Parts: sequence; C-alpha cells; structure tokens
Amino acid sequence: MEFSRVLIQFALWVAILHQLNQVIGFPLHAAALDDIPAYSDSTDREWRLQVDAHVKENLASILRDEAVNRLDKLGKVSDSQEFLQRTFMSPAALRAGQLIRTWMADAGLFTWIDDMGNVHGRFDGMNSSAPALLIGSHMDTVIDAGRYDGALGIISAIAAVKALQKSGKLREYPRPIEIIAFSDEEGVRFQSTFLGSGAIAGTLSPNLLQVKDKRGVTVQQALQKLSFPGTKESIVHLKYEPESVWGYVEVHIEQGPVLEAKGLPLGVVDAIAGQTRLRVSMKGSAGHAGTVPMAMRKDPMPAAAQAIVAIEELCIRLSQSVGQVTALQATENKGGALVCTVGEIASWPGASNVIPGEVTFSVDVRAKDDSVRELAVGNMEVIIHEICRNRAISCTIERKNEAKTVDCDHELTERLTESATAATSELSTLAGVPTANQEAVPTISSGAGHDALAMAQLTKVGIIFVRCTGGISHSPEEHVLDDDIWAAGLALHSFLEADLPKSLSA
Ligand SMILES: [Zn+2]
Repeated sequence: MEFSRVLIQFALWVAILHQLNQVIGFPLHAAALDDIPAYSDSTDREWRLQVDAHVKENLASILRDEAVNRLDKLGKVSDSQEFLQRTFMSPAALRAGQLIRTWMADAGLFTWIDDMGNVHGRFDGMNSSAPALLIGSHMDTVIDAGRYDGALGIISAIAAVKALQKSGKLREYPRPIEIIAFSDEEGVRFQSTFLGSGAIAGTLSPNLLQVKDKRGVTVQQALQKLSFPGTKESIVHLKYEPESVWGYVEVHIEQGPVLEAKGLPLGVVDAIAGQTRLRVSMKGSAGHAGTVPMAMRKDPMPAAAQAIVAIEELCIRLSQSVGQVTALQATENKGGALVCTVGEIASWPGASNVIPGEVTFSVDVRAKDDSVRELAVGNMEVIIHEICRNRAISCTIERKNEAKTVDCDHELTERLTESATAATSELSTLAGVPTANQEAVPTISSGAGHDALAMAQLTKVGIIFVRCTGGISHSPEEHVLDDDIWAAGLALHSFLEADLPKSLSA
C-alpha cells in the first residue's frame, strides 16, 4: 500500500517535470549553471569571482543553447498549420505571450500582460524608483514569417537578464530593468503598425479602437473578445511617463545584407531612415487596343513605365553624388544613401485589349538624411510632371506618409558598440570564431522602422543589429546562425554588466 503510493507520487513528479520541460524548454546541460560554488568556502569577493568564472564558463547554455531552443519553440506557435503567422490578438499570439511570460518568470522577473496585450517582465534592482531601462521587440509576425524577426530581440533580452540573475548580479543593478514583448509591430491585422509600442510611448491615435480588420472586427472588439477592457482610458493609461524611463534598447535581425557581406555577426544602428510614401496617379484616355492609332493615344501605362525607370535612375544618381557618397558606401547605406521602391502598381480597367484610362503606383523613398530624401522627392515630382506633360497625361502626386529620420542616442550607441565589440571578441575566444576584420562592429542605418521608432517618441533609443543569412526576412527562409544568437545575448549581457557597480562588473 505504502509502496504503491510512493510509486504514484514518483510518477506524478516525473509527469510534472516533463510538462515543465515542455513549457520552459531547459536544455539538458542548463543544470550546470545552477551548480554555483558554495558561498561558505570563501570571502564575499572571492566567491563572486568564482561565481563569475562559473557563469562565464556556462553562459553558452543560456545565451546560445537555451535561446536557440526557445526561438524554435516560439517559431512553432502559429495560427496556421502550414506557416508561421501570429497577428494582434490572435489565439497563437495569446499562446506566444503566455510562453514568453513563463520564460520571463524563469529569469527571475515579475511579469504581467497589459491592456494592449504587451507582455512585461520587470526586476526592480537596487533602486525601484529610478528610471527604468526598457529592452524589447515584437512578438507578432507577418504572414508566412521567419522565426527571428522580433522574437530574437525578446529571447536574447530574457537570456541576458537570466544570465545576470544566475550570477547573483541582477539584484545589484542600479535601476529597474523591464523587458517588453510588444503585441503588434508588423500591423498585419489592422494595417496600423506599433499598436504595442505605440501604447507605451503614447503615440496611438484615440480613433484607433474603431479601426477594422478585413473581417470588419474593430481593435476594440478584438481586445474585448479576449477580456481586455478595450476602452480609450485603458489604452491612454498604458503610456509611460518619460521621467520613469532611462532608455530603450532593442536587438533585431538586420533584415538586410550588410553584416553578412562584411562577415560580421553584430552591428549598431546610428539612425532609423526617414520615409516618404507617394501615390502617383496618371490619367489618360481609355480606348480599344485595336482601333486607336499609336499617334492618337493618351496612354498612361508607358508614361508610368518611363516615370518608374526615371525614379530609379534619379535615386541611383543622387545616392552616389550627394555628399560624395561612393558606390561602396551607398552599398553600406552610409552617408544618407537613398533607396527608392515602386512596389505597387494598378491599371484601370486592367484588361489586355484595353488602353488603360488610369495607372496608379506607389513610391517608397527612404534615406538617413532628411534633406537627401526631400531633394529626391522634390526632383521626382518635377520629373514625373514633365513626363506627363510631354505625353499629355494628367498627373497627381499625393504624399501619403512622411516620417523624419530618428537618430539613435549617441551615448547609448557608443555603449552598445563597446558591448557588441566585447561580445564579438569574447565569442572568438569562446567559440573559436575568428573576427573577420578590424571593424568588428560596424555602424549601420536602419531602413526599417522597428519598435524603437515608436519608443523614440518616449525616450532615447539604441539598436543592435544581428546578421541574418542572405539578408532575407519576412520569409520562412529567414535564418540566424546559432553563434550569432549567442553573440547578441553576449552583447546585451555585457551592456548590462557595464552598468553594475564597479566591484561587480567583470
Ligand atoms: Zn521586426
């Protein structure tokens, strides 16, 4: 009787531990980190040094193995069986949030989910009322997404804080650290980006709650369906006071080819490019494809084709001439290099046997330097109008969206560069990965927005970029090397360590 009860209890424990492992996903050798040297054996200072050495030796299990394992796990939390998709307030987004929350708690953080679905994990450190360091990225994805966009920033932040907690240093941190997994950055469901970070930064429009998705469900209804209040007050209430925040740091995949071309795992962002979005509409005369002679046509399609080619030529010329930017620098996106894209085009009525009456297309113009972007857009407008005039086509150009360049904080960027440099050299020692060249951590401008763009309205921001294979993103082909995930974790860990009291920093 007694024996069978023990047996049942044993079986129950095995089942519980198995479940825990399924949820939290410990790699097998993570246990080595818990094997901290005994305190009673030495003085406080010596003990700390021993713990330091021990954690350093075992850091890879948290910063690489566990992080890789968690990215795999999170990459499987999807609303579709066939591909990865997690949109704002979807069932998979909710499951992902719960999983991230478990991992934050495992790193010793106090956790909660706010009224916009953002997942927070906070540790107060030595001074709970000091302005907090926020570290974050987004947990939503595009449709048929890769597993690293957004997720890498969340997982490596949790890993770095967990490593600090394991070494007993987290409680000595001079200010609160808060990791935030933002609920929406991609804007797939409501075509409105930064629902998560925008709420924290206080940049969301009050009308946002009435914005509808493709099925006619409003943001408010989506929130209320999952028992969030979904009221204006509940959203306004989420805004952080600038005095309560020290700064914001984000780790993100580069989503471009620069780091790979340089053979380097990490880069630091100096600015997020400004952006102008144009909608060009060209109107001519629709007609029968067989009966209207060529000389008598007012066909907006060739006009659009000519304009699109001219836009490309203009942007190549300007990006190479403005500020004496060389072709190589332009490739590296330095010196305000300009990129212009026509990604969307439509013709009306859009039939193979009809000369179109109207052609519309979009132009996306981005540059690190606002004056370069302005110059390009101004020239573009002149060129497009001239083409239309020559072809007797009527032309309108609308500026649909305009965002100025956001500079990353200079001091924060310098500190992140130091941390990323330390991480790169540490990695070359730990993993035997040779550093490709002297410029171990390049400075790159970001052509994509990221949550840092919204957070810059609240506080100073800094971004670390991580190399991704082929620069491919927003695709299941998106890939980050295990050692680069390690490098990202090491860089954040070193960034946090540098802020510790001198007696504690390694
Ligand atoms: Zn992203």
